[in-house]
Amino acid sequence: MTIVNQIIWDLTFLFAGINDPKINKAIIDAVATANTFEKTYRGKITSLSVDDLLKCLQDIESLEAKISDLILFSSLSFASDMTKPQAQALNDSVDKLSAKIGKQLAFYSLELGALVKGKPQIINESALANYKHSLERILRRVEHQLSEVEEQIIIEKDQFGVNSWEELQSKWLNTRLFDVVVLGEKKTLSYGEANGLLSHSDRSTRESANRSIYGILGKDGEVFSAALRSICNDWVMVCKRRKYASSMESSLISNDTQESIIGNLLQTIENGAESYRHYLKLKAKLMNQPVLGNHDIVAPLPGSIELKFTFQEAQELIIKAYSRFDPQYAAAVKEMFQKRRIDATPRFGKRNGAFCASYFNGKSAYILQSFNGTLSDVFTLAHELGHATHDWYMARSQTLLNMNVPSTVAETASIFGELLLTDQLLDSAKSNAERKALLCLVIDEVGMTAFQVTSRVWFEQALYASIDQGEYLDYKTICSHWIKSRDRIFGDAVTWFPEMEAEWTMKPHYFMANYRYYNYPYVYAQMFVYSLFEQYLKEGKTFVPKLVKALSAGSSVSPMEIGEIVGLNVESPDFWNSGIKVFERLIGDLEKII
Ligand SMILES: [Zn+2]
Repeated sequence: MTIVNQIIWDLTFLFAGINDPKINKAIIDAVATANTFEKTYRGKITSLSVDDLLKCLQDIESLEAKISDLILFSSLSFASDMTKPQAQALNDSVDKLSAKIGKQLAFYSLELGALVKGKPQIINESALANYKHSLERILRRVEHQLSEVEEQIIIEKDQFGVNSWEELQSKWLNTRLFDVVVLGEKKTLSYGEANGLLSHSDRSTRESANRSIYGILGKDGEVFSAALRSICNDWVMVCKRRKYASSMESSLISNDTQESIIGNLLQTIENGAESYRHYLKLKAKLMNQPVLGNHDIVAPLPGSIELKFTFQEAQELIIKAYSRFDPQYAAAVKEMFQKRRIDATPRFGKRNGAFCASYFNGKSAYILQSFNGTLSDVFTLAHELGHATHDWYMARSQTLLNMNVPSTVAETASIFGELLLTDQLLDSAKSNAERKALLCLVIDEVGMTAFQVTSRVWFEQALYASIDQGEYLDYKTICSHWIKSRDRIFGDAVTWFPEMEAEWTMKPHYFMANYRYYNYPYVYAQMFVYSLFEQYLKEGKTFVPKLVKALSAGSSVSPMEIGEIVGLNVESPDFWNSGIKVFERLIGDLEKII
């Protein structure tokens, strides 16, 4: 038997353990601080002087910092073993505590919104310089807020109204069984199990999984259509009430960006899709198919070698990749390993997937993943360590309110970390077969996050345009929007099973009422970071301090200003082309070795 070194995080930086008496003390302290905050500020925020407003913002930050250790410790303890009753109980009580404090202090954001709306000039006070952009974001949002009572009614009615569609969709998926032929053997599987077979190395297993999942989803297409139709029509009314200029405006505000920037981005992707189709045709050849089937898009190449890594090897590789960019830039990554901030060993009861949780008071982060030694696990680790690097720089330069980074910027260091790893792996690959497998993996990933995801944004836009024109969104109408949007990216490069018209029914985010346009920030992030990398290749070492400055800025400036720091103008219509160029170069590299 081999002895496996368990890679488990050390949470004692936060608390000694679940029974640490300091936890109770911290809870009592948080409650007392929240009470004091309420007593000091309730009903008074709109008439605060500039100096008192500064004090108020600092007070809310120190309260949030106090609670953050409790939330972090309880959620991490729970994520590492979800079956442990003590961890469940602690997580539950901290959840309740933070919900209670949230409710108690709900007046704070309402009153602060009213203050900023009534006296917008206060944003430019020099004493408040640290909070300028945070206040600007509040001002942009507050213009669409309704009265306190209206807001409360919306929350109450949505809870069991339009929000329920999301529950219905996930309940449906989790209670159905799917018959899939796996390597010639018929199996009855849950949705999660069947979904895991979509990228199986055996082609007919992939076909069977695709046809089974989407065939069954499509049979209930009218049910999903009723849900999506209601959610979209509800959103149209919300937008009118809140005076949003478009169905996208609310999400543009959350992502701290502008419609014209996103318009340019999507247009650039549409123009660049020709390169992606070129790659897909190349991949068809590599897979010995006349045309790629939809079940081949992200499939591994037949007979491709599967690289395996120990955690130690992954650690060394990632430190090397980050250090090659800049030794100092790798400091956060090294610390994450040294201080045991990573939980990587797969085990029963541990939460699925991977995440990086910011540890503000420790000026660091914690990472969870289930590391099984595949290449994609190494990429996941490099990605999450990018988030940790971002947290490391931000926490050293910003106060808590400036750590509220929008999705458009939040993936900067993480995707950059993946590119550093790609570069390192390509340079040290021992054979062209290894390089080929690696390049296909990376290109497939971008194909999904930039190109396929863009078609989903178009789909959502098409639904609102359809409602605007008085069209009734029944199942076949929704499917036709899906297919049209999909084909704008894939054209003649892919053939689709007829069942794939139902693909939209399984995307949970379409069913999240009041959370529209979930997709485009991922396209933005991917293309922004590709442009960054292009800039790095052009400038070399002089680029390093610029990236550090951009990451250190947190959310204290807008994503446009983040671009300026690194010498990129995201508002320029042809800006996004540089990201496409990096993508095309990867395809060129692949063509050289096949
Ligand atoms: Zn990420």
